[in-house]
Amino acid sequence: MQFTNRINRIQVSATAAVISAAEQLKAKGVDIADFGPGEPDFPTPEHIKKAAIKAIEENRSKYTPTGGISPLREAIPAWHKRELGSDFTAKECAVSVGGKHAIFNVISVLIDHGDEVVLPAPYWVSFPDIIKYAGATPVIVPTRPEDGFAAKASDIERAITSKTKMVLINSPSNPSGGVVSPDEYEKILALCKKHNLYLMGDECYSHFVYEPHKPFSIASAKNAKDNVIIVGSVSKTFAMTGWRIGYTLGPEALIQAIIKVQSQSTSNPTSIAQYAALEAMTGTMDTVPPMLAEYKKRRERIVNGLRAIPGVTCEWPGGAFYAFPNVSAYLGEGKHAIAKSCTDLSKLLLEKAHVALVPGEAFGAPGFLRLSYATSIERIDEGLRRLEKFFSRAEAAS
Ligand code: PLP
Repeated sequence: MQFTNRINRIQVSATAAVISAAEQLKAKGVDIADFGPGEPDFPTPEHIKKAAIKAIEENRSKYTPTGGISPLREAIPAWHKRELGSDFTAKECAVSVGGKHAIFNVISVLIDHGDEVVLPAPYWVSFPDIIKYAGATPVIVPTRPEDGFAAKASDIERAITSKTKMVLINSPSNPSGGVVSPDEYEKILALCKKHNLYLMGDECYSHFVYEPHKPFSIASAKNAKDNVIIVGSVSKTFAMTGWRIGYTLGPEALIQAIIKVQSQSTSNPTSIAQYAALEAMTGTMDTVPPMLAEYKKRRERIVNGLRAIPGVTCEWPGGAFYAFPNVSAYLGEGKHAIAKSCTDLSKLLLEKAHVALVPGEAFGAPGFLRLSYATSIERIDEGLRRLEKFFSRAEAAS
């Protein structure tokens, strides 16, 4: 079959590939310590589930307006204002089929063939592919472990060319947990203003930050609205990954263009899920702190466990729920080399140690592994035991 250039420019998400390899082993009865999935292991809060059940019972199962039901388009900016200090209206909000869809829409509407998008690395797997699908080029700007993997305005400025259209910041970051401080983020905004660029902020993990960080949106900065586009999602904050509701906040003209694309592709996001998201945006936020407290405990356990493995270094993630250790001592010419690359190493870990995780190459960070700690302390301990055993054998053999 002859596929289009555009589909040939992208690959299946590497995280999806790891999850499916682990699932195949699980189906054969193998017990996998699974650090693969990037989703909360908590159930969706009761009050949100109840709102969805009520919506079903009230037969809210018809098409809705393409950009989302009006109460939700009102509630999202109101929630964002309350929680993160922004100032958007319902007309500046579109509801989409998850945050990924929101990002895909924004890029398809604003980014053209030949354009460049500046993207700090490690980056979320889907960003470069979505940019390439639009015919544009992701221009990768490395961040440093010693800066907590937070993007810096000075590095971004060096990557800007006459073709640059957008800077894409994901803070807190998947996969590194890097959090850009408000000061630095404002410097990045100033840069975008100076060069007339869009600044897209992916805030999917906004509420999962650890001290001293606080939830922050660049949309709360002065004069942000001309340049800033926010994409967010109920997936992580409210443990609603399967419901598929995300949103874009930005200039009304952009929102209209997104609604136009949706009107010719997905139409509205699922009606029932929109009513559930409406409850998430208007109901209690009391479910969030206990989840964050649990992630904090797990973060402690996993980072300390990884640091105890000889040759492995691991920064404290400032947010999200991923540990991102450097395992280059076990690669290539490294001191305890057992694999050529992280991709090979992660295959070995899955086959020999029955530990599932995602190789750093998928995120533009060879030498690193991503371990999601959205799993119980017991499973984290089991996984760490397997990793310690696996790496100590490799160390002893070297
Ligand atoms: N952005 C980042 C950084 C993510 O990690 C994810 C999901 O893993 C998304 C966006 C998309 O989330 P969803 O489409 O589930 O709302």
